[in-house]
Parts: sequence; C-alpha cells; structure tokens
Amino acid sequence: MRSTTASRRWPRTEKCPLCGIGEVDTLDHYLPKAHFPLCAILPINLVPACMHCNHDKGPATSDSPGTQPLHPYFDRLGQGRWLVADVLPTTPVTVCSDVQARPEWSAALTARVQHHFTAYDLGSRYALKTGRHLAGRRHLHRQLLDIGPKPLRETLREEAESWTKPNPNAWETALYFALADSDWYLAEGLEED
Ligand SMILES: [Zn+2]
Repeated sequence: MRSTTASRRWPRTEKCPLCGIGEVDTLDHYLPKAHFPLCAILPINLVPACMHCNHDKGPATSDSPGTQPLHPYFDRLGQGRWLVADVLPTTPVTVCSDVQARPEWSAALTARVQHHFTAYDLGSRYALKTGRHLAGRRHLHRQLLDIGPKPLRETLREEAESWTKPNPNAWETALYFALADSDWYLAEGLEED
C-alpha cells in the first residue's frame, strides 16, 4: 500500500486528506494494488495520506456500497458541518466527536462517511488531540471564567467561528462549538482539580 516516493512529491506539512490531522508522508492506493495491480500507478488511484491512515486502511476491499472508502478527489460532502462533538462531564474533560449526516446526503454516502470515521479510528484520534489541546487552554479558560461565564462562552464561540472558515469539519471546529454549548464545561468543567 505504501510508496516511498510520497515524501518527494508532498511537503511534510501537508495535511492528510483522509483524517485532516496527520502529515502526508505516503501514498495510499485507493484501489488496493494487491487486488487491482493494473491501477497501481494510475494517478487518480494514488491518494496522499499519512502513515496512520494508510496502515488503517490496509489491503481490504469493500463488499458493499456503504463500506466503499471516501475518495478525497471525487467525493463531495458539501460545505456544511457534519463533524460534531459532545463534552462529557469527566476529569479531565472528555470530548467525543461523531458524524452527523447532512440532510442532502444519500443513505449510501452517510454510511460511507460513518464507515470512514470508524475505519480510520477518527473518534479516538480526535479525542487525543482535543485532550492535549484542552490541557493547554485550561488556564486561559479559567482566567476568562473568573471574569464571568459570558465572556468565556463568547470567546469559545468566536474560536468555533474562526475555525469554521478554513474547515467547518476540523476537530477544532467541532470542539469549540461543543465547549460553547456546554453549560457543564463553563461551570464544573473548569473547577480546581
Ligand atoms: Zn491520515
């Protein structure tokens, strides 16, 4: 599945289109070369990807429309938000992300996006990101909360809106909308440990 030529073709700062968090350092064969050798060097069959996603996808082929992998060049999910998150009342704070199907999506596309989210382990990978991120923001959020919950909520919502501009479905976008909507986070979630 892996090609060593990727690092010469994409800068390491390029984000993986399959997860949005990893750095591109390999090429994924959309149609696995083990099953489709004639497509092994077809440009549209080569998707820049991070090592994690390339490994997770593996050589398996789909056996139903709902498990067909998303192709970042050809599948269009629209501009609306579909990645959502929920803040769980735990210490430290847990933020779970999930797919919320868009009304314009077909049943098959919905199944494929949900399959993509699971197959690439995006829930766990985003949870790791949000956990580290919140640990670094905790002090700032507590300072804002000392002024009052309203300034903190407004700041969280501004962060969410700002992240929406470059990517309405970034984990940061989902995180900040979820925090801004969480009464628990603006109270008990920021209490002293
Ligand atoms: Zn990736």
